[in-house]
Amino acid sequence: MPIELLIAPAASGKTELCINRLRATQQENPLTQVWALVPNTQAAAQFRSRLAASGGGMGVKIGFFHHFYQDILEENGRFVPVISQALSHRLIQETVREVSASGNLRHYDAIKDKPGFFSVLKDSFAELRSTLVTPEALLDYTRGSTPARQELAILYERFLARLGTLGWIDSEGQAWLAIEALENNSAIASHESLVVVDGFTAFTAAQRRFLKLLGQQADEMIITLTGEPESTRMVHRRAQKVLQGLETELSPKIVTINHPALLATPILQMEKSVLNPEAVEQCELQEPILLEARSQSEEAREALRWVKQLHVRQNVPLSKCAIYTADLSTYQPLLRAAADEFGLNLRFSQRDPLVESPAILSMLNLLTLPLENYPTRALLNALHSPYFQFGLESQDVENLEKVSQQAIIVTGKDQWDAAWIMLARKHQDYAEALDDERYRPDLTAGIDLPGLKQRLDGFWNLFTQIEITRSEAGWVEWLEALLSTLSFYENISTERDRAACSSLGEALRALVVSEKVVGVREVDYSQFVTDLQSALNGANLEEPTEARKNAVFIGKLVEARGSRYQAVALLGFSEGLFPIVENPDPFLDEELRKDLGLEPRLQREQASTFYQAFTRADTHLLLTRPYLSKDGEPWEPSPYWQAAKALFKGRAIIKIQSFEGRPQAEAASPQELLFWGVQQGQLIYAEDNELQQRWQNLANAHRILDARRAKHAEGVYEGDLFEQASSLAQRYSAGYSWSASRLEAYGNCPYFFFVNSALNLDITKPLEPGLDSAQVGSLYHRILELIYSESTKNHTNPLDILDDVASRVFKDAPEMFGFRPSALWEVEKSQHLEKLRKSLQALEAERGAWQPIGFEKKFGIQGAPPLELRLNGRIILLHGVIDRVDHHPNGQTRVIDYKTGGSHLGELELKKGLRLQLPIYALAAQDALRLGEVVDGFYWKINDARPGGLKLSKFKAEEDEGIKAAYHVAKEYISSYVSKIQEGSFRPEPPSDGCPDYCPASQWCWRYQARYNND
Ligand code: SF4
Repeated sequence: MPIELLIAPAASGKTELCINRLRATQQENPLTQVWALVPNTQAAAQFRSRLAASGGGMGVKIGFFHHFYQDILEENGRFVPVISQALSHRLIQETVREVSASGNLRHYDAIKDKPGFFSVLKDSFAELRSTLVTPEALLDYTRGSTPARQELAILYERFLARLGTLGWIDSEGQAWLAIEALENNSAIASHESLVVVDGFTAFTAAQRRFLKLLGQQADEMIITLTGEPESTRMVHRRAQKVLQGLETELSPKIVTINHPALLATPILQMEKSVLNPEAVEQCELQEPILLEARSQSEEAREALRWVKQLHVRQNVPLSKCAIYTADLSTYQPLLRAAADEFGLNLRFSQRDPLVESPAILSMLNLLTLPLENYPTRALLNALHSPYFQFGLESQDVENLEKVSQQAIIVTGKDQWDAAWIMLARKHQDYAEALDDERYRPDLTAGIDLPGLKQRLDGFWNLFTQIEITRSEAGWVEWLEALLSTLSFYENISTERDRAACSSLGEALRALVVSEKVVGVREVDYSQFVTDLQSALNGANLEEPTEARKNAVFIGKLVEARGSRYQAVALLGFSEGLFPIVENPDPFLDEELRKDLGLEPRLQREQASTFYQAFTRADTHLLLTRPYLSKDGEPWEPSPYWQAAKALFKGRAIIKIQSFEGRPQAEAASPQELLFWGVQQGQLIYAEDNELQQRWQNLANAHRILDARRAKHAEGVYEGDLFEQASSLAQRYSAGYSWSASRLEAYGNCPYFFFVNSALNLDITKPLEPGLDSAQVGSLYHRILELIYSESTKNHTNPLDILDDVASRVFKDAPEMFGFRPSALWEVEKSQHLEKLRKSLQALEAERGAWQPIGFEKKFGIQGAPPLELRLNGRIILLHGVIDRVDHHPNGQTRVIDYKTGGSHLGELELKKGLRLQLPIYALAAQDALRLGEVVDGFYWKINDARPGGLKLSKFKAEEDEGIKAAYHVAKEYISSYVSKIQEGSFRPEPPSDGCPDYCPASQWCWRYQARYNND
């Protein structure tokens, strides 16, 4: 009996007719064998349920081509194992390696290890196989051609030869064997009464040949095709080509159906008229079917809102809804995020790559640590991972982070080893806020460092066995043991992670099996990790069963075939998104495709894809597009959008504008409802208790926002802690010892003081080798201290001993000041030395008769008396370290404070209360340390080799001048600051030159102002 080809427009009853024919055949002979070939899982499920609804189904085998290839082979008594995806990937990898080793890979040599190359080869081989291109034909065709083509042909030939040697087959190769079986045995499929081939939009050469041979043996075969014979419309062009191919090869009897398509009016109008060059009568719409949203993200939300509305208001089951888009990889995360918010289940045709699973990512991060010499951030991330138990408590990992910060551990076990020794001998001054130049907090105070080191050693021991080479099977065994030691599998708790573990198992099996089939090869650890990554790159994550229940189907536009839905939304109808911009295939070029009969990559009849996609909807259709590009420019609509729009009169398009209030009843999630409520100033569903509670929270948030947006910072949300005044007064009571830098911090910005000093928050800086500004400050102070103390003691010229002192300090500096020398340390040392030399020369030139008598003089620290100030009836204690105290032969005293930063050291800063250190230190030298009457003091700018602008002896206030005036101003500010701190007044006031980059509040402070020069 000839093969029947049933061609008719979409939704005109082709599947119905097939089902009726199946039922009739079954009724005639209940034990007969009938087959139904469908293109995808959705089509299979729908065909099965329609068949069941018609009262039949028993004995009908519904499946895909590969199921029937398998059946034919089994019928022929041949069982050939089909290679798994993971193993196929490995085999391609091995083939590339072999061809490269034989010197036949030049053109592709640079990308021979890239996982993407293996994936492309896998797809190219599959396409060549589906088009029945033999390796010999490809080698013949490429002889004398470009190196790229020749190498591809060699790889193809070697891959198939390897498969043949193993006695295995890839899924496309099954078609070849099934065809061969049908050709050699004309009775294998003769017991098939009816074969239905439904829902396809195209057939590969292998599929056509298989159908032809099957059709010759089966009693009856019906193939359906969506289209119209003789049609010249663009939307049917692909169907015409398929029809031609089938006619040439199968010589079928063409049958048409003449019923009208069973589609809702707007969809029917599009089915009949879209992209129809003939004049079309416009149709009136009840509701718009075209929706424009600002961005792709909003477009995804609107599409899902539309689905949810249909589900909630019109009881359309979610499983009867589908969304298609040409660019699924862009829309997939957007749809997933919106669906999570809206409480909708989605089912994607495209499974997530296995390497994106958190469990697998964590494992790969762990395995790559030794290869990258344990970068500290990645190491700490691994130690924090919930997938592993390293025998470390979470407090331990936090402490390790502190150790890494304190000892500047950038990378490598050797840095950790050195850090434990260094921290054990840590310089005592760490603990004290000496001044803003030298302050480094002691992050590791109170940590049991030996115990922590011992626990971390357990981690290093995990990788002691990786220096040797092993077989892949040996490495897999090592990995399994590692994962078991770390309780990896016990820590897997979600269905998604379980699916990832199962795919991981398959990838590991593929590594072991591939070695069995291609021969044992000893590889080092790095190669094993590369092979594992490559195997994982080729694998996808199984979709959890839960996700498949009552879910909206999401697929690519090209996958829209064979299944029908009540509601379909099509996304991305803007220029460049769909129709997609076609590019030639760099591996299988257009000329080769044409010559060998492969489908072209250019001119792919996208209008037919569009037709197939929108005709999947029976009742509800929505087309959406973004109208603004990412950079805010208008985004032109796609020509298909324009074509659809031209078919309707009245309101065909709805445009979503963010400034237009939307009915709250359309909100698809509580968050969205509340957001719209806030925009509109009222919540309509106020009787709902939970919503009411959240509404109240938002009202509070609104007050905070208002306070933060007010021109002047004020109120409890902007640093007024008056309610905490009693506890603040207690904390900063008479016994509290202040440093000049703390008080100056308050003067520069009260909120900065609150965050940094009261809350003790600090910025975690990225770890970098080399010295930070505090360490440079400490280094310079130490060298100057030693130079002056030794030169004073030995009566030598300070400049004569500079080199010697500096070299001694440089030698111990990393350990003493806790930094990791960078590669430029040697160069940096000579730069530091040069700066110090210039500074010292200038200092000496300025010295005159002054004689240094005190260096690093502490007050209020380590038993030294504090400076006690009696201000407004209370005692304020102060501590600090005076860099240098000089005596004059006339009995006078002066203080010098070294600074590496060169700005804000003038008189004005003292008048504004931003710099109080110098008068405080002068008072401390005089009153606390009793070093004589201080008559002067100045800052010394080491880098600039000159004094700062403030000289205490020349200070001028409004009513007074000299050092006494400076004391008076400083005391006024000290008293005022302490009072305000005790009262809880911490309003943010950005410094006049912007906020310092070390202010921890800069992460969230609404008063933040960028600083242009952070010196
Ligand atoms: S960011 Fe600026 S205004 Fe805000 S607390 Fe820090 S220094 Fe003050």
